[in-house]
Amino acid sequence: MDPAPTAFADLPLDPELGAPVPFACGTDDRYGAARDGAPVSARTLDGRRVTQCALSRICGVCGAGLGRPIAFLGSPEEAARNAFHFPPAHLACAQALLAAYERVPGALLGQVEPPPSWVLVTTAAFEFVRPGREEVDRRPTFAPHAILEQVR
Ligand SMILES: [Zn+2]
Repeated sequence: MDPAPTAFADLPLDPELGAPVPFACGTDDRYGAARDGAPVSARTLDGRRVTQCALSRICGVCGAGLGRPIAFLGSPEEAARNAFHFPPAHLACAQALLAAYERVPGALLGQVEPPPSWVLVTTAAFEFVRPGREEVDRRPTFAPHAILEQVR
């Protein structure tokens, strides 16, 4: 069972980083052990949760239903390709996550390498793009339809 939406302040903390672990990054250990037995981590995405966020239109940070605008957080490269790996989020949730990660070293949120900077954009709608069989990167991505604002 997946946990109910969790307020940002109540998100579990990554034991290594001391940083909040968003909904899309893994199973909340208050609701039972992580599926693979590993502690929750802000570094990697949980593919099952990513899909759940896409199909149920829920926030990748807090797990509650999305309104508008919808925020996407990623690297400059993801923004340039219009293909984000982290699921859609409330703008306030994305901003809180960025603030919490300001001094956290290393790659986070499923990024392969630490991005040189974070990009935060807003949109009114997005497409969930599943990779084709022939693609090297088999992770699904999110394509915002039109950028309303680049927040940072
Ligand atoms: Zn949220």
